[in-house]
Amino acid sequence: METVTKGKKMLLGGKWLGREETITVYDPQDNTVITTVPKASKADMLRAIQAAEEGAKTAANMPVHERISVIQKAADYIARKSERYAEIIAREGSKTITEARKEVSRCITTLRVSAEEARRMNGETIAFDQMPGHENRVGYYYHFPVGIIAAITPFNDPLNLVAHKVGPAIASGNAIIVKPATLTPLSALLLAEAFDAAGLPSKILSVVTGSGSEIGDVLVMHPSIRMVSFTGGLETGERIARIAGLKKLSMELGSNSPVIVLKDADIDAAVSSCITGAFGAVGQNCLGVQRIFIEKEQFDSFVEKFVEQANQFKVGDKKDVTTDMGPLITEKEAIRVEEWVAEALEGEATLLAGGKRNRAFYSPTVLTDVPADAKIAKEEIFGPVVILFPVETLDEAIEKANHVNYGLQAGIFTKDIDLAFTAIKRLEVGGIMINDSSDYRIDAMPFGGVKGSGMGREGVRSTMQEMTEPKVVNFNLK
Ligand code: NAP
Repeated sequence: METVTKGKKMLLGGKWLGREETITVYDPQDNTVITTVPKASKADMLRAIQAAEEGAKTAANMPVHERISVIQKAADYIARKSERYAEIIAREGSKTITEARKEVSRCITTLRVSAEEARRMNGETIAFDQMPGHENRVGYYYHFPVGIIAAITPFNDPLNLVAHKVGPAIASGNAIIVKPATLTPLSALLLAEAFDAAGLPSKILSVVTGSGSEIGDVLVMHPSIRMVSFTGGLETGERIARIAGLKKLSMELGSNSPVIVLKDADIDAAVSSCITGAFGAVGQNCLGVQRIFIEKEQFDSFVEKFVEQANQFKVGDKKDVTTDMGPLITEKEAIRVEEWVAEALEGEATLLAGGKRNRAFYSPTVLTDVPADAKIAKEEIFGPVVILFPVETLDEAIEKANHVNYGLQAGIFTKDIDLAFTAIKRLEVGGIMINDSSDYRIDAMPFGGVKGSGMGREGVRSTMQEMTEPKVVNFNLK
């Protein structure tokens, strides 16, 4: 694996800049230092916004064929250096090298879909003559870019979630300022490197590294920022929404996703899908399976198979291709997960597997007998912990699944089409997977949640809709 020894620079207003004050980036596996990144100040953020005011004009005037070409070249650049990208993701974050390679491949797809969608930003003609007296009117609407987008991103998919904002922003003619997670800023800087190498005109994209609590307000509240595209936790999202003022908001927040397993389901398929859905990326996944509701006829059989597979999940060195699960993002986070589990066990919960911590590593953990109102069942655990609930009926499962302040995605395993449609209609989520876990996504589908899981949709085409406004054009032919 590559060892980065020199401090990294940030891309600010078309220049790669270092700063005397730096933030150290660690590998959570062993706390070794990877490198440092600049600790941007409020003045730096203001400078980035000033540059983006110019960049927004350049971006809006870039012909679509040039946008397509530059995004494709950035994707080509990442494809050529994909192993370097994967190594950085696996080093600065929680992902194993196998998971990191998948993220790089998805990032390339996200960018290629963005380039493709750039040519499809179509409007519509409008039948103005539907109103009596408007027979001599003709016109249409088209989408125009909002201007400058503030993109604030989390640690758990440090490359692809940034690409989900940068690709569509450039494709739709906007300037964008990225504030990546402080724990994992290197992947976002590598994405900026790809766009720089691809010839993206300067000042369209800045990646400003620094603490969200220190420089976030300047970015979010600035009147020149026309949209805040945030992916992260509910608390941070709510804070941003309170102070942002009159601008577009896209909020991709967390969840504690439910999966329902009915008595007619293929239990083996349900078990293996829920295992990867619960423990992939160490459970630090907004779509991660946290609550599984199993009809009582299949409960014992599901539990037996699930616990067996959870115990086989291999926890260890991220660099090893045979490892299934690496460490949590920090030891502090692993301790928090351990405390939540301990609190549940002090109540009525029963531990079926896992529950062991070694520094930042936490074993795949399975609980049952958890009351639906317990904190661990209502909040987002964001770690490798899953709760199994026996239920009498689909109605009970749906009611309990909805009984939380989140609603990102859900899954249901059944062969009965009528029951599947009942779940589709009644589950309060942004996406439902039939015969799969909640943890299913392709980068070209509308993606987002309801309730505390957020508002707005990502998924390239949907993101581009959010990053633009329709402008109506009307000709009076009289
Ligand atoms: P987080 O603590 O909310 O941080 C997310 C980002 O917000 C980071 O860049 C952080 O910067 C920044 N930030 C913190 N305080 C801020 C402020 N006052 N103003 C502006 N920005 C601020 O979330 P996280 O722990 O990195 O990520 C985990 C969460 O993200 C989970 O809840 C997960 O479910 C959610 N998530 C959702 C999706 C989705 O698409 N729905 C996808 C992935 C993750 P610093 O790092 O400098 O603090």
